[in-house]
Amino acid sequence: MSSNVPQSRHLATPLPGPASVELMKRKHSAVSAGVATTMPVFAARAAGGIVEDVDGNRLIDLGSGIAVTTVGNSAPRVVEAVREQVEAFTHTCFMVTPYEGYVAVAEKLAELSPGDHEKRTALFNSGSEAVENAVKIARVHTGRDAVVVFDHAYHGRTNLTMAMTAKNMPYKKGFGPFAGEVYRAPMSYPFRDAEGIDGKLAAERAIDLIQAQVGADQVAAVVIEPVQGEGGFIVPAPGFLAALAEWCRANGALFVADEVQSGFGRTGTWFAVEHEGVVPDLLVSAKGIAGGLPLSAVTGRAEIMDSVHGGGLGGTYGGNPLACAAALAVIETIEADGLLERARQIEELVVGTLRSLQQRDPRIGDVRGRGAMIAAEFVDPATGRPDGALAKAVAAHAHAQGVIALTCGTWGNVIRFLPPLSISDELLIEGLAIVADGLAASR
Ligand code: PMP
Repeated sequence: MSSNVPQSRHLATPLPGPASVELMKRKHSAVSAGVATTMPVFAARAAGGIVEDVDGNRLIDLGSGIAVTTVGNSAPRVVEAVREQVEAFTHTCFMVTPYEGYVAVAEKLAELSPGDHEKRTALFNSGSEAVENAVKIARVHTGRDAVVVFDHAYHGRTNLTMAMTAKNMPYKKGFGPFAGEVYRAPMSYPFRDAEGIDGKLAAERAIDLIQAQVGADQVAAVVIEPVQGEGGFIVPAPGFLAALAEWCRANGALFVADEVQSGFGRTGTWFAVEHEGVVPDLLVSAKGIAGGLPLSAVTGRAEIMDSVHGGGLGGTYGGNPLACAAALAVIETIEADGLLERARQIEELVVGTLRSLQQRDPRIGDVRGRGAMIAAEFVDPATGRPDGALAKAVAAHAHAQGVIALTCGTWGNVIRFLPPLSISDELLIEGLAIVADGLAASR
C-alpha cells in the first residue's frame, strides 16, 4: 500500500468537524434530500483501512463504500492503470470504436467465473443495470417472462430492480407501479427458519411455491444473491442454491447469481457460489470489480449470451475504458497480493471476535457470513424478535468514535462488516472493539 494516509484512527475534532458541517449545509441546499448519507462527514482521501475526512479525522473503514473498495481505496495498481488510461483516451464508446480493455475484462471474467464452459460477457455501469440486463438476456434466451426472486432480496433501484428488491422502505415506497412478472419466493434463512428446515427442504418450499404460483414453464430466470447483501448478509443453508440451480436446469429456466455484493473476492473465493459448488447460467458482478470505478458485468454461457440480437445490449458508458483498466488492475492486485486468502483470514478474525462477544451477550442472535462479508444480527433475547434500535445505537456509537460501520437487514437489525481486504489486523481489531463498546453502552 503506497498510502500517505496514516493507517491509524484519529479524531481531530468531534464528528462531524467544522469543515464537514459547512459542506453538509451546502449539501442540504444543493443535493436532493432523497440522497441520504450514513455518516455526517465528508471524505478527503482514503487508503488501506482508513478514510480521512475534510477535518483531518481518520476513520476506520469497515464498509468499503458498500463492498466496493475490496482491494483498498486508491489501490496503487488501480491508480496507475487509470492514470495511464486517462492519458491515452477517456472514452470512445465500445459500441462505436471498441478497445482492448473491454475484451480483456471479458476474457478475465470467463477465466475467473465458475464453470469451464464457453462464456461471454457484456459490461455495464451499475449493479442495477447489470441485473436488468441479465433479465433481458434470460427473457430473450428462454422466450419466457417470469422472474423469480426471494424474500429479503436486494437487486437495485431502477424500476425492474425495485420490483425485484424486497424491502419497501426506503427503496420502493411511493416509487411504483413496478415492473410486472416478478415473483417472490421464500429464502433459506437458517437463523429464522424453523428447526429442521435444511437447504433441501427450504428449496422444496420455494420450488413448490414457484410451481404453484408461477408455473415451471413460465420462468425465465431465478435470480438470487448467493449471500444476501442489503437483506442482512443471509447465507442460505447448504444445498439450497444447488437445489434451485438443479430445478432451473430441469425446467429450462436460467439460474442467475447476483454477485454484485458477494463477488470479486469478498467472500474468500472469486465468487460466493463457489462455496456451494454451483455453476450459474448467468453471473452478475459489479462493486468490487473495479476498485471504485463504475463497472458491472453479466457473464454467462456463450449460447445464452449470444442469443441476443446485435445491438440489443449496450449503453453509452458500459465498459468505460477507465473502469476496464481499473478492473484489470483489481484482478492483478487480488492475485498478486493473495487477497482471497486475506478474506479468509478476516473471516476468522471477525467471526471469532463476534462469536466470543455473542457468548457474553445474547442480544447478538446470530453471527454469519463468509470471508470479509460478516454480520451480527441483533435481537431481543427474550423473544428473538429483530432489534433494529439496538443495531442503530451500536452503529451510531461506532460512527461517533470514528468507525464506519453499516447496518442492513429487512428490519435494520444487522450490522455488517465489509472491510477492505487491505486493512491491517490492528485496525480491524480496534474497529471491532469500538463496536463492542457500543454494544456494552447500549444497555
Ligand atoms: N445487487 C446487489 C446484490 C447489491 O448489493 C446491489 C447494491 N447494493 C445491487 C444489486 C445494485 O447495485 P448498484 O447500486 O450498483 O446499482
